[in-house]
Amino acid sequence: MAYGEVKQFIAGEWRNVFGEGKPIFNPATEEEIGHLPVASEADIAEAVKAADEGFREWSVVPAADRASVLKTAAEILRGKSDTVAERITLEQGKPLASAGFEPAFAAMELEWYAEEAVRAYGRVIPSREPGQRNFVIKQPVGPSLLISPWNYPMASPNVKIGACLAAGCSFIVKPASETPAGCMELIEALLEAGVPPKAMNMVTGSAGMIAEKILASDKIRKVSFTGSTQVGRKLLSMTALRLQQLTMELGGHAPVIVNDDVDLDAVVPALVAKKLQNGGQVCISPTRFYVHRKLYVDFADAMAEAMSRIITGNGLDPATELGPMINAESVENLEMMTEDAKGKGASVLAGGGRVSGVGHFFQPTVLRDVSDDAEIMNEEPFGPIVPIQAFDDLDSAIEKANTSPYGLNAYAFAASREAVEKLGSGIEAGIVSINRTNAVYPETPMGGIKASGYGKELGTEGMDAYYVSKFISENNPLSSATKIVARG
Ligand code: NAP
Repeated sequence: MAYGEVKQFIAGEWRNVFGEGKPIFNPATEEEIGHLPVASEADIAEAVKAADEGFREWSVVPAADRASVLKTAAEILRGKSDTVAERITLEQGKPLASAGFEPAFAAMELEWYAEEAVRAYGRVIPSREPGQRNFVIKQPVGPSLLISPWNYPMASPNVKIGACLAAGCSFIVKPASETPAGCMELIEALLEAGVPPKAMNMVTGSAGMIAEKILASDKIRKVSFTGSTQVGRKLLSMTALRLQQLTMELGGHAPVIVNDDVDLDAVVPALVAKKLQNGGQVCISPTRFYVHRKLYVDFADAMAEAMSRIITGNGLDPATELGPMINAESVENLEMMTEDAKGKGASVLAGGGRVSGVGHFFQPTVLRDVSDDAEIMNEEPFGPIVPIQAFDDLDSAIEKANTSPYGLNAYAFAASREAVEKLGSGIEAGIVSINRTNAVYPETPMGGIKASGYGKELGTEGMDAYYVSKFISENNPLSSATKIVARG
């Protein structure tokens, strides 16, 4: 199975400028599978110029026509789902079936954004003065810089690109260096569907330099970033000079609260499936487990039993349930967090270390009696570890959930109506899932609070992130009979 070449897309052409190209590795085999082009300053300047020209072209295309192009792209993505899945598994490691979910979900998102594009209604505001008409229209914000992480090579850039194009904006996208192919495949589909070439640019290489050069331009009006809180803070300072609008989808550390009145036979399998989604390398992965003391031992044992049965391996093998971690540093970090938790009193009920041999594999791991000061209870592990702690009353569990500086999402399981209401209103997070684990749909807003960032993707809020509102106030033509009254 060939990974294929990686290219940048600048000013309407695919460019294979290697310069000092960076190697791309398969995390399951550690083999070099390709090279990442490194954008030069000239490439970046051309991409900015093209995004500006592309914006002039695309922003005047009627919304219904933009919608039709996006719907065509959705069909193209569905048609090449197998090829896309293979490339994603090779660069990112996730099992093929999960990789195939990316073009499928991207297609759903494009269709939903397409349907929203024709509903950028604005509003009419009743006037206080005779002869005056007041209205607000939505206009595309302008050329945008979109930066995405490696964990969803196609779905993550698509969530930005779909809304950006639907609203009439152009963009420069910078995918993660480990996983550029998913984004390339997406741009190819959009190009084939009819998006004007200059409206889309993809640059790769040195992230800090790319962001700095692009954000130094007056032409770029918006930044949408998904990644770590640490890099988010750097970007925030880079936008201080030109005040570009920002959407910040940053790190999370999702608490899971399991109350004393739930059916563990249903809850444990649901949580195992969610925990192992993308090997736990997901911003909304459940990462801190608070379980009522009444069910604590049974929950921990059931979780350990289920996690021990998981099949770990190369994502290309159809039997694989858990693929590799993205790189060697990630495995080292998981080992460090496990040792730290053990040193602070935790016991290992399942897994507990790396899988020996080739590839960046880590065992599905369950830790019990993990103390509050363990690193893993304070920073997201981004891997298949379940750290568990007992609680005695629901209020104290909610308080623990809220002590984290992060506030992206949370999970809770409870049967009584009173507990469900308390959890829904009491947990501080952008998304709270109660008695369920799926929380991402094209039509529902996704985004965090506190150190998890601000702004939303998906839903009407995600579309609004690419519009600016303009207030237009009109009168009938002035005549000498018009009485002008100054206010204020
Ligand atoms: P990351 O290191 O912050 O990288 C994310 C992106 O930012 C990559 O494209 C990276 O490029 C780029 N980047 C790195 N340094 C930069 C700089 N100085 N200026 C501008 N861009 C820079 O994060 P990651 O390790 O890829 O992703 C994991 C993080 O993303 C986790 O914290 C996770 O929770 C978060 N995440 C959040 C959401 C959400 O919706 N809230 C969704 C998914 C992931 P290179 O690859 O070239 O370094």
